[in-house]
Amino acid sequence: MKHLKLKNPFNIPLPVDTHRAPEVRHATAPPTIAVSPSHFRYVKPRLLVKMLDRIKAGTPLFYDKRDPSVRLLSPVSGIVQNITFGHRRCIDEIVIEPSPNGSGPYYEPLSMDQITRLSREDTIELLKTRGIWPFIHQFPYKDIPKTELNAKLAIICLQSTDPFAPLPRVMIRQTGTRDYLTAALAIMSILANEVIVAAPVSEMPYVNHIRELITHSIHDRYPASDPKVILYQVRKHPGQNTALSMDIQDFLDMGACLLTGSMPTTRLYRICSDVTAPGIHVLAQKGSPASFLLSSVCSDVSKLEQKNIVASGLFSGRLAQIHSHMRHFESSLVCIDREYPEEPFGFVAPGFEKASESNTFLSRVTSRIYNLDSTVHGEHRPCINCGYCQKKCPVELFPQFIMKACLAGEEEEAIELGMLDCTLCGLCSFVCPSKIELSDIIEQAMNQYYKERVTI
Ligand code: SF4
Ligand code: SF4
Repeated sequence: MKHLKLKNPFNIPLPVDTHRAPEVRHATAPPTIAVSPSHFRYVKPRLLVKMLDRIKAGTPLFYDKRDPSVRLLSPVSGIVQNITFGHRRCIDEIVIEPSPNGSGPYYEPLSMDQITRLSREDTIELLKTRGIWPFIHQFPYKDIPKTELNAKLAIICLQSTDPFAPLPRVMIRQTGTRDYLTAALAIMSILANEVIVAAPVSEMPYVNHIRELITHSIHDRYPASDPKVILYQVRKHPGQNTALSMDIQDFLDMGACLLTGSMPTTRLYRICSDVTAPGIHVLAQKGSPASFLLSSVCSDVSKLEQKNIVASGLFSGRLAQIHSHMRHFESSLVCIDREYPEEPFGFVAPGFEKASESNTFLSRVTSRIYNLDSTVHGEHRPCINCGYCQKKCPVELFPQFIMKACLAGEEEEAIELGMLDCTLCGLCSFVCPSKIELSDIIEQAMNQYYKERVTI
């Protein structure tokens, strides 16, 4: 097993769960669940349901106008209670009221022998029919893969990218996981010439029973588990830049769906009502409301309305409304303070209470876990070429130059500077003393380039 060393590791300490088997709470049935078409990057959705439709688990909810064979299926049976629209009339949420005691869609189970004998065309057809295809990402843009794709590499990490994502030891100990992982790996080996399976060093003692399936160990620090960071470390030639990847929970669900015939309807979430605590794992229906998940860990959710709730990733996640629903690839909720209280006698200990990577803050000398907040601690200023952003970039880019090329509309120059390698980890924005949202600027430029120049 090879170890991948993270370039420019990020040093702000985050809480670690030291329990061998952290507590998992099983949530009751949520009042509603939702599927969010706008969450699927680049997809041009065409709705296939309308308000008050009675649907069964597995009913197609929408298809992608770019490829009508790519459809997203309802995870549950129920009634379409609402369809909400966001900016420019993009479909924000398809809200479903699940039927009581409803189960997920059911298909013909396959044996391992049948799976390994599938042709590439049959595999793609099978994944599309069962609504799994939209859960596969293809780099560098993280779009749904093209059917004609012949990928050279696939990367699966047992830990999702988000620093507060559910721990592999919790997912892997669930019944049948080893078989599901083996089946999913067999499918991925049909789609890609080589499959890399990575796991963080700290989780290795807990995943011993599947050790022979793991090809690489990775650093524990954010964002070492991002498949794009792993790709940067392992790629041998440019042909591997179009590697495939899947979130580990979707990967295991794919294995379960093939072997048992039923698509799991639940997802493991990690909920942290405070950044300084390691959080609680909650097994709940996919697409549950944020307020419903928070109520599993906090007796009075109204108190959390005073905080900012970040879904899936402190550094690159989404600010979630408490009454909105979890989106498909999201698996964590973290509540952070909106404001930072005034530091008394700050002139005596400047920055002692502020989490920062900067050497000008005294917090740099402690290993304390800080209660992060969402204030930017300063105002937007021009770039001062300090180089902090490049010192934290996990794929060794020069974010300041890429950002300037993007703002000047020089897309080709940004690509020459490595824009397509950017993992959108958000660390450059986090450390920038001028409060420049580098990661957002790069993401917008990348999306625009892809939509205008690459897709039809
Ligand atoms: S961290 Fe900010 S100010 Fe410093 S070089 Fe990067 S973009 Fe410029
Ligand atoms: S978001 Fe910033 S730090 Fe992260 S990979 Fe992109 S350029 Fe580098």
